[in-house]
Amino acid sequence: MQGYILDIKPVKDDDLIVIILTENRIYTTYRFYGARHSTINIGYKIDFELEGSLKSDISRLRDVMQLNYQWILNSQKMYAWQRFIKLFNSHFRDIEEIDEFYFNLLNELVHMMIKQNEKRAILQAYLKLLEYEGRLHTDYTCFLCDIEIEDKISLVRSFLPAHPQCTFSKIFSIDKVKEMFEENSLINFTDEEIDYLWNILLQGL
Ligand SMILES: [Zn+2]
Repeated sequence: MQGYILDIKPVKDDDLIVIILTENRIYTTYRFYGARHSTINIGYKIDFELEGSLKSDISRLRDVMQLNYQWILNSQKMYAWQRFIKLFNSHFRDIEEIDEFYFNLLNELVHMMIKQNEKRAILQAYLKLLEYEGRLHTDYTCFLCDIEIEDKISLVRSFLPAHPQCTFSKIFSIDKVKEMFEENSLINFTDEEIDYLWNILLQGL
C-alpha cells in the first residue's frame, strides 16, 4: 500500500504512532523501535504493509520503503510541503474513510512541484481542495455583512471573501481573485502577495 505520512508521534521506548493518508483511508499505525528501520519523516510518501491489530484499530506498520520525490533534497520545497501536509492531519482528525481525491491531489502536487515554485503549486492544490469541498466562494459575498463585493476584496481564513473595510485586511482587486478562484491561476500575483496567501493557508485547511 502507498500513502503519505501526515504525522509522527513518539510514544514509549522510542516507538512511534504514524498517521498515514492512503487512497481511501487515514490509518493510525504503530511502529516498534528498531535500529534497522529506515528513517521516516512527516511528508514522506511510503510503500508499507500493515500487520494485525494491536489494540482496537491500530495496526503495526512494517516493511516501510520511502518513495522519493525529485525535489526531496531541496530544503525549501520540503519545508513548505511538510507544513502543508501537517494541516491534513487536523483537517482529517477523527475521520477514517476518505475519498481518493486527496491522495490524487497530493500525487499531482508532488509532480507540479518539480518545476513550479512550491508556494504557488501548493496554493493551487489548496484551491482545488476548497472547490472539491464546496468551500470556494465564487459568489463573492462578504461573509461579514452579506453584501456583494464589487471591486476591492480581502480574503481571510479558508479564503473566505470579505470587504476590505469589513476586515481591515490586505486589499486585492476582485479580477485577480476571480482569476485565482475560477481559473486556478496565480500568474498575476506578486511574490509578496503569494506570501500573504501562504500565511492564510497556514492558519488551517
Ligand atoms: Zn462586508
